[in-house]
Amino acid sequence: MLVAILKEARPDETRVALTPDAVKALTGKGVSVAVESSAGLQSGASDQDYVAAGASISGSRAELLATADVVPVVNALPAEDQEKLKSGSVMIGFLRPLDDPAALAAAVKRGVTLFSMELVPRITRAQSMDALSSMATVAGYKAVIVAADHLPKLFPLLMTAAGTIPPAKVLVLGAGVAGLQAIATARRLGAVVEAYDVRAAAGEQVKSLGAKFIEVDLGGLQTEDKGGYAKELSPEALELGRQAIAKAAKTADVVITTAQVPGRRAPLMIPTAAVEEMRPGSIIFDLAAPAGGNCEATKPGETIVYHGVTIFGPANIVAQMPVHASMLYSRNVSNFLQLIVKNGELVIDQADEIIAGSCVAHAGQVVNERVTAALKARS
Ligand code: NAD
Repeated sequence: MLVAILKEARPDETRVALTPDAVKALTGKGVSVAVESSAGLQSGASDQDYVAAGASISGSRAELLATADVVPVVNALPAEDQEKLKSGSVMIGFLRPLDDPAALAAAVKRGVTLFSMELVPRITRAQSMDALSSMATVAGYKAVIVAADHLPKLFPLLMTAAGTIPPAKVLVLGAGVAGLQAIATARRLGAVVEAYDVRAAAGEQVKSLGAKFIEVDLGGLQTEDKGGYAKELSPEALELGRQAIAKAAKTADVVITTAQVPGRRAPLMIPTAAVEEMRPGSIIFDLAAPAGGNCEATKPGETIVYHGVTIFGPANIVAQMPVHASMLYSRNVSNFLQLIVKNGELVIDQADEIIAGSCVAHAGQVVNERVTAALKARS
């Protein structure tokens, strides 16, 4: 069985799907691994590192695509690569099957089995494969570091002979994995932190990190689904949140926004009018930019200044931390591979909840109901 590690095609991607550590574990189990030359360079893994882990290096992407049984990726391969994959092979990665299902059509047609890391069920047994959480952890940390670097102020309270400097105020919107990491990082840098989330359960976690939780009375509305995710809110409930946020944003130096609802556009939490009320020199870091953004003024993929407020809308913030982002992602993918590679052979057991939950397509058919619905909605 051959696992092929390719250079990511997306221009702003610096991560690699499997690091040399993961390759060593695979080759130790009798799996052959071939790496496209320089695939790991931006993540700190040289061709020599992969060779030392037991892989071979190839200069021919086309040959790797045509011969691989398993292709772990960070982002889905482009259509022209998908067309070269072997029928019956496996592609696994962040395939965005709910956001852009049509981009997988060529692989489905080729009879490639597709596994989406976004769809791995968030059950206890699958925690070690939870790549969304891994990347959210990196993103939450990096957002605060970048914001602190750009803020024309210090983060901590300082008492100096020249006077006292008050601590920076950070507002975090959405207290899931990324938001909690942002809170923890901002607190470590000495900021005073407030946070808001629609899920009441997030309140205790926010407080345990030393931040204040902004309470909004939504009249007992059910805001959480069975999976622990936020539900899409009614316009009225969203508006109540927006009013509380606008008030807190007026005095904030940094606003980090992370709110998302799986498979939907990110909720709009900061209207342009609220940005206009913010202090000049303050910062909004919109981690939901790839899903449309939580701030109305965000331009996904750009950093802009609006009314004196710098608004970051990074398209791929985790790519700015490629070493640890790749390390975590590679471990998540390796743990998933252990489910489908037994004794050096590919074994796909659709009775396994994790395999069935994350499988997008098999034997030429889309097999996931949500992906089928997403395709219908776009046709
Ligand atoms: P996410 O990235 O989908 O969303 C980020 C946060 O935004 C969530 O906390 C969500 O409640 C919040 N949000 C959505 N709409 C909002 C709105 N209109 N206003 C305010 N906040 C809004 O979520 P995530 O960080 O991936 O995880 C969310 C939940 O899943 C958390 O409870 C987390 O603990 C849980 N989780 C469980 C597991 C597991 O069991 N294996 C793994 C990871 C996360």
